[in-house]
Amino acid sequence: STSILLFTRDLRVRDNPALAAACRADRVVPLFVLDDAILTVPNRVRFLLESLADLRASLRAAGGDLLVRRGDPAAEVARLSREAGADALHLADERSAYGTRRLAALRELDLAVTAHPGVTVVPPGALTPANGDHYRVFTPYWRVWDAARRRPEAPEPKAVRLPDGLDAGPLPTGAELVSGPCSPDPAPGGERAGRARMRAWLRETADEYDRIHDDLAADRTSRLSAYLKFGCVSPLELERASRGGGREGFRRQLAWRDFHHQVAAAFPGLARRDYRPRRGSWNRDEDALAAWREGTTGIPIVDAGMRQLRREGFMHNRARLVTASFLTRNLNIDWREGLRHFDAWLTDGDVADNAGNWQWVAGTGNNTRPGQVMNPLRQAARFDRGGDYVRRYLPELAELDARHVHHPWTLPDDRRSALDYPPPISGYRTPGEDG
Ligand code: FAD
Repeated sequence: STSILLFTRDLRVRDNPALAAACRADRVVPLFVLDDAILTVPNRVRFLLESLADLRASLRAAGGDLLVRRGDPAAEVARLSREAGADALHLADERSAYGTRRLAALRELDLAVTAHPGVTVVPPGALTPANGDHYRVFTPYWRVWDAARRRPEAPEPKAVRLPDGLDAGPLPTGAELVSGPCSPDPAPGGERAGRARMRAWLRETADEYDRIHDDLAADRTSRLSAYLKFGCVSPLELERASRGGGREGFRRQLAWRDFHHQVAAAFPGLARRDYRPRRGSWNRDEDALAAWREGTTGIPIVDAGMRQLRREGFMHNRARLVTASFLTRNLNIDWREGLRHFDAWLTDGDVADNAGNWQWVAGTGNNTRPGQVMNPLRQAARFDRGGDYVRRYLPELAELDARHVHHPWTLPDDRRSALDYPPPISGYRTPGEDG
């Protein structure tokens, strides 16, 4: 028998249930299909290609290979199954709108298709409330998630036996696939890099998570989000390794990820939904939106976050909250503008997590405290007390001391006008604050 293993968001050989199942056949064809629909954001394309190169190396080390094709996944699987004489297809069960359409198209083929867990700790739909189809509020979800049984980890295949005569196909460069700038200071893609980061983080920092994860300058979160997004690291393995110590908060974050994925599975149109602001209508202010995107609003904590995003393709969670709140609550701009900009730069950019979090901040989604507004200056005082985060990303403020770095407008006029930094954006107001 011959099985095709279609990699999607599970670019790893460790704890990969779909790969383990496919390798039980006599022959296996590991495949990734580069579909134009997923090749839109330079930062993610770079990370993807590095992850595929790493995966190919691991599969070659096990005697196999990674076949790479371009085009429509169902069409490429159909072609390859004829070439290889395959009778079965295994893939990870991935419930984005795109993943759901892809799975439906694959099920039309003349192959036995099996979708396996592995993209989240607990699969979407596995936990359901007594009176409904899915959880809409996080806390009850977290309670059942925390206690839910976990599947056993899948064994890493010892040998990957390919059918004879298949062409592996070239791995294109990023420039061949997508045009546009990448962030200059990104994280490297791939399972090897992801596992190295996971091990170092579990060893050195995980126990401090509950105490330190909101400290912007310390930068002590795991930074595993892009590895989770592409499945270079197993969320299940990470969750198991994160029990005990000061790690409860970290497991909660993994549960948030699962939560957003099960919401998105239930509402595939999530990111497009036209939620109204809580009062009135959204402002259409192109200048304010451009200043927010560029990190030139004149509010240092906001600008530092936005510059980190461009420089690294990543932003600290606390800064994501502050910048998103600033856009939607202070500038009163539509959260979908923010979502689009984050999506265009984040290496971990993911419809479920991005839309779920934007709606939470904008107070339009499943938020149980929709009135919360974050005062950026108070956030700065709490989470970047000494100002090191701002100084790291805003070189024009690098010389300012802790008293002035978060509000340079309080400097004497001569010092202030010598700075190459704008005054606070007009239209910035501080509404009722409780953050
Ligand atoms: P850690 O603090 O180390 O957390 C561990 C893991 O838990 C993360 O890697 C991530 O997979 C998961 N996680 C943590 N917080 C959240 C959360 N609030 N929601 C969902 N999963 C979470 N995360 C994304 O992965 N993709 C996105 O597109 C994304 N967009 C966001 C947009 C906004 C407006 C906000 C406020 C948050 C967004 N997040 C997104 C969630 C969160 O900011 C990032 O997951 C986190 O900053 C990644 O850094 P880390 O890996 O060091 O996180």
